[in-house]
Amino acid sequence: MPELPEVADAVRRIRPRVRGRRIVAVEPLHAATRRALSLAARRRLVGRTITDVTRRGKYQLLVLDDGTQLVAHFRLDGDWVVQGSGAPLPTHARLVIELAPRAAAGRTSRGSNSLILTDPRALATVTWDLIPDIGPEADAANLTPDALLARLASTRTAIKLALLDQRRLAGLGNIYAAEALWRAGIDPRTPAKDLTRPQATHLLRGIRAALRDGERRAGRYRTGTRTAPFKVYDRAGATCTRCGTAIAALTQGGRTTYWCPGCQRR
Ligand SMILES: [Zn+2]
Repeated sequence: MPELPEVADAVRRIRPRVRGRRIVAVEPLHAATRRALSLAARRRLVGRTITDVTRRGKYQLLVLDDGTQLVAHFRLDGDWVVQGSGAPLPTHARLVIELAPRAAAGRTSRGSNSLILTDPRALATVTWDLIPDIGPEADAANLTPDALLARLASTRTAIKLALLDQRRLAGLGNIYAAEALWRAGIDPRTPAKDLTRPQATHLLRGIRAALRDGERRAGRYRTGTRTAPFKVYDRAGATCTRCGTAIAALTQGGRTTYWCPGCQRR
């Protein structure tokens, strides 16, 4: 599943290629994208210019010149492809947004392009102007330990699951929640409301360090890679680099949590 660093990377990748360009056609190629963007919506999108591409949590926002936005989420396996119009469509293309050539000082600079949403599982979504109600960005520079503590303190749910709840904190997925908890030395089963102020400080540092680490690694991680480039994620049975204990795995909310029983405490 694409995590925050990969989503941020996708935004950086497409922004210079689509910003300032006018939409000339929107073609859904799958029942789900057809449902999400009705014929009426598609007609109204034609003629709009994409003024920017930004991110909110793991949602990507294609900001339009009328103040609305297309909201994309990769879910498990989505991605963008930008290619010349008329080129053969990639396998698993689900939505094509055709963009007019960029007009630069009276002359047409480049040919027209297609921005294509690809997804083998067809779970990725693109909706129009439905911005989800989510918490502050996990990597926001102005997020304080007190604010983090306040977002988490209202629930008895395990801290790992609270971190994955996008309404509390936006952007953390299964990999970086586990990595952040290891860095903070916190047992993933700790009830969120038991988190102490010092632990919140460590956790915030851990979140930032784990995400920075992720940004340095280019490309998307596939589970089962022989040497996982993480501290705990996908490393069950391997040695903890901090205390030498074998990394363990447990199931929380139907998903695997990796952690170190030696140095992650309640
Ligand atoms: Zn350890």
